[in-house]
Amino acid sequence: MKTLRIVLLLSVIITTSFAQSNYDTVKITPLKVTEQIYMLKGAGGNVGVLIGDEGTLMIDNQFAPLSNKINGAIKTLSPGEIKFAINTHVHGDHSGGNENFYKMGAVLVAHDNVRGRMMKEQVNTRTNRTTPPRDKDAWPVVTFGDKINFHLNGEDVILHHFDKGHTDGDVIVQFKNANVVHTGDAFVRYGYPYIDLSNGGSINGFINTLDKILVLIDDNTKVIPGHGELATKADVKKVRDGVADIRDQVAAALKKGKKTEDMASLGITDKYEKEWGKGFVKGKDFVLVVAESLSAK
Ligand SMILES: [Zn+2]
Repeated sequence: MKTLRIVLLLSVIITTSFAQSNYDTVKITPLKVTEQIYMLKGAGGNVGVLIGDEGTLMIDNQFAPLSNKINGAIKTLSPGEIKFAINTHVHGDHSGGNENFYKMGAVLVAHDNVRGRMMKEQVNTRTNRTTPPRDKDAWPVVTFGDKINFHLNGEDVILHHFDKGHTDGDVIVQFKNANVVHTGDAFVRYGYPYIDLSNGGSINGFINTLDKILVLIDDNTKVIPGHGELATKADVKKVRDGVADIRDQVAAALKKGKKTEDMASLGITDKYEKEWGKGFVKGKDFVLVVAESLSAK
């Protein structure tokens, strides 16, 4: 039962901290990544933007009340129309503006499972909380399973779905020629990652996704994380190794007969606390989610 409460707590924290944000004071700040690619920070997930004569492609769009500000910031980079708006996954801090950008004329693109989840009422079987379906205008128009390619502005943009990790609809966006990737929340810099089990996430899939990202990138790749500052392959590797170490220790403890609720008392995350302990996912909660994911059939 304790695990259930922790999972509930995490989703409450996510929902309420967003709801309380004062959107009026949020500033959208563009960071130039390459001549054609920008990363926009504001409130919520990092927005990626590809500009050029053939139109704009954007990745993620934060919350609905920020759409006009985000659109305004993008228009200062390039006056061209926003042709494609990609969601890296279903969460509202990445897809909250879907309706608005759809109405502005963008084609919404996401993994098959993102559309599937947005169309239906979501019932969290652990907490019995329900989330109503998203407005039809928010539903992705183009969806895919494993991979889809876009070719515009001289760039090859490849969308990869590697595994069920943060959710079951995670997409990694690769700008092949520019050597830039936007990872969505498959890689974040706020500390312990969030594995959303109620949206189909999985710890093993999460690590598998990071391994596949590491194959995709090199030491010169500029990595736009789901949250946090621009990163490098070394930053991704460090998170991958830490998360895999924690997963292995939790798996070993479960094998020895420890219960999920014992995990927090085993000191598994002690050496990560200094670097990751200040994030919204606490170490003691992370090991519970890892144990629950490993125990799931
Ligand atoms: Zn997320």
